[in-house]
Amino acid sequence: MARQNVVIRGGEKWCQMCGTWKLLDCFKENLNASCGYRAWCNECTREYMHDWHARRKPATRRREFVERLREAGLTEPQIEAVIDAVVAFANSERRAVGQISRAEKRREQETTREPNGIG
Ligand SMILES: [Zn+2]
Repeated sequence: MARQNVVIRGGEKWCQMCGTWKLLDCFKENLNASCGYRAWCNECTREYMHDWHARRKPATRRREFVERLREAGLTEPQIEAVIDAVVAFANSERRAVGQISRAEKRREQETTREPNGIG
């Protein structure tokens, strides 16, 4: 019989992510896994999911960007101006390769349709 890697011992399981033994309570069940539990502990799973979402959410990216500008010593109006410029640049880049989103298109149509007197 082939010797399996021991992942469970005396009520504890090895987390492949953080590399520590943790109580089985710290793991979600996974009926597809040979040991019956997920490879990562709940903490690592939560952290990974958080990171994953952070990488995908533009709002979070924007917030991180703003924080970096703030750390660099920019004032709020300066930050706003930089963000505007970056967003406009990103949109023009995307438009250039035809990747403008439907939401943006709708917004554009709305702004061009409205004769707004702001400014
Ligand atoms: Zn872990």
